[in-house]
Amino acid sequence: MPPIVVRSKIDLAGLAVPLVEVTGSGDGPTLSVIAGVHGCEYAAMAGVRRWVTGLAAQELTGRIRVIPVLNVTAFAARSPFVVPEDGKNLNRCFPGDPAGTLADRLAYDTFSRLISGSDAMVDAHCGDLVEALQPFALYESGPAEDRARVLAEAYGLPYIIRQSAGPGRAVTGSSSGAAAEAGIPAITAEAGGCGLVEEYAVALHVAGLNRVLAELGMAALPTSRADSSAAPTRLSRFLWLRCQFSGWWEPAVAAGESVAEGQVLGTVSSLDGADVRETVIAPARGVVIFLTSSPAVADDGLLLGLGAH
Ligand SMILES: [Zn+2]
Repeated sequence: MPPIVVRSKIDLAGLAVPLVEVTGSGDGPTLSVIAGVHGCEYAAMAGVRRWVTGLAAQELTGRIRVIPVLNVTAFAARSPFVVPEDGKNLNRCFPGDPAGTLADRLAYDTFSRLISGSDAMVDAHCGDLVEALQPFALYESGPAEDRARVLAEAYGLPYIIRQSAGPGRAVTGSSSGAAAEAGIPAITAEAGGCGLVEEYAVALHVAGLNRVLAELGMAALPTSRADSSAAPTRLSRFLWLRCQFSGWWEPAVAAGESVAEGQVLGTVSSLDGADVRETVIAPARGVVIFLTSSPAVADDGLLLGLGAH
């Protein structure tokens, strides 16, 4: 029996957010899938849209709740990184605050009404409008860690990063981090970037989500997508490098490139091209996981993310 698919809008923080609810023919887990936490991460949204459309033809058990574009005002405004109304990064605001500004309230409503009560959660991302990215999945240390790691592996991306709480952590307030704190196995899956809808990245998200369904026992793996990907490389640290001062950023490496400790990763120079103000050096051996692709960087601007062994 095919699943029941209901498309509606859910009121989250006063915004009408598209929601697709898919109910399978038998009992099973509840999976929540979100994309568009960042409003210009189109490859992730495109992957989730294609995947959820394909579910109507599959045999499923359990329930799936899908938000293909969460940050609808950022999407409409083509606003990278932040909710345009308050300038906050939604993925630093989870589990949210009902008394805060729009990003805090959107995080709160998303967490309390969709993520909370799920048996598993996938938050699909990619590089933002000005970020190139090497596909990877991220999961958190904590009580749900073993189940989250299995989902991260199932997604089938070439790198897996385990984040742990405490000093040295790249960011806090992410959706998957808040889910992990509530004991829900959750991953952040990233493929694509630079404001593009590239087919390889869309296909990675579709295949990854199908593998998550199979891993949770909610569906059989579609035979056409049962490709055996190589075992992922595990990275234990995620180092985010920033410049001190604003200027013209010129990377010397590409996303996905392996680098040695001490290797030059790029420079920040004056806008007239006369002086190099900073030379950015790899603090450890690792892989360039994401890279700011725009030359324009602000004071304390984010340049790249290095996954280290
Ligand atoms: Zn993102």
